[in-house]
Amino acid sequence: MSRDVLVLFDIDGTLLHGRPEAHTHAMVAAMAQVWGVPAVPDDIWDIDPAGRTDREIARMVLRAHGVDDRAIDQGTPEWIDLASALHESEAPLHAAPVAAADADAVTGRLADEGAEVALLTGNLQPIGRAKVGAAGLGHRFGPGGGFGSDAEVRADLVHVARRRAARAYSDTEVVVVGDTPRDVVAARTAGVRVVAVTTGAFGPDALADADAVVADLTAATHVLLA
Ligand SMILES: [Mg+2]
Repeated sequence: MSRDVLVLFDIDGTLLHGRPEAHTHAMVAAMAQVWGVPAVPDDIWDIDPAGRTDREIARMVLRAHGVDDRAIDQGTPEWIDLASALHESEAPLHAAPVAAADADAVTGRLADEGAEVALLTGNLQPIGRAKVGAAGLGHRFGPGGGFGSDAEVRADLVHVARRRAARAYSDTEVVVVGDTPRDVVAARTAGVRVVAVTTGAFGPDALADADAVVADLTAATHVLLA
């Protein structure tokens, strides 16, 4: 592969390991304030959230609480701001996800080789950046990327990240690195390549539609730089 490549890293299960407890608490607390629903973190864990965008998760939880789509759409901008603010106060109360042992080395190596690295995550942008920063990886990622605050459909985040990249890349020069079948589908839908890592909740069979399935980020980098 050419070094002229945009590598888009998922956060949860890919760069970071561990359950994002502060994140889920902030999301449901903000739902309770904006829409007046008794949402709890288990509402999120119960809808198979891995790989979904935060806006998609919110819509599913809110529908289950009887909120209609029009009201969901109207409250979403306020919810994004409030959830992001609440995450700051929730973060010290919970164990934070930690960086994959090789995440710093891998993102550094790719940058050294001339690749552009960015985040591609269903997380709301302020929350995603806070989590990555708390795990010591904030210096690896510039102002670009695609986030769950940008769109509800994960594939659309790929287009957002490409528009925010330092330059134009062809479809074959864009590679998603993620840990869920939804990362794979998003990359396929957006017409770009995808390397799946089995460091999240999914094994090789569930990720078989990726261009490559590997055990960790180090192995993913070997594929990217081969
Ligand atoms: Mg993930």
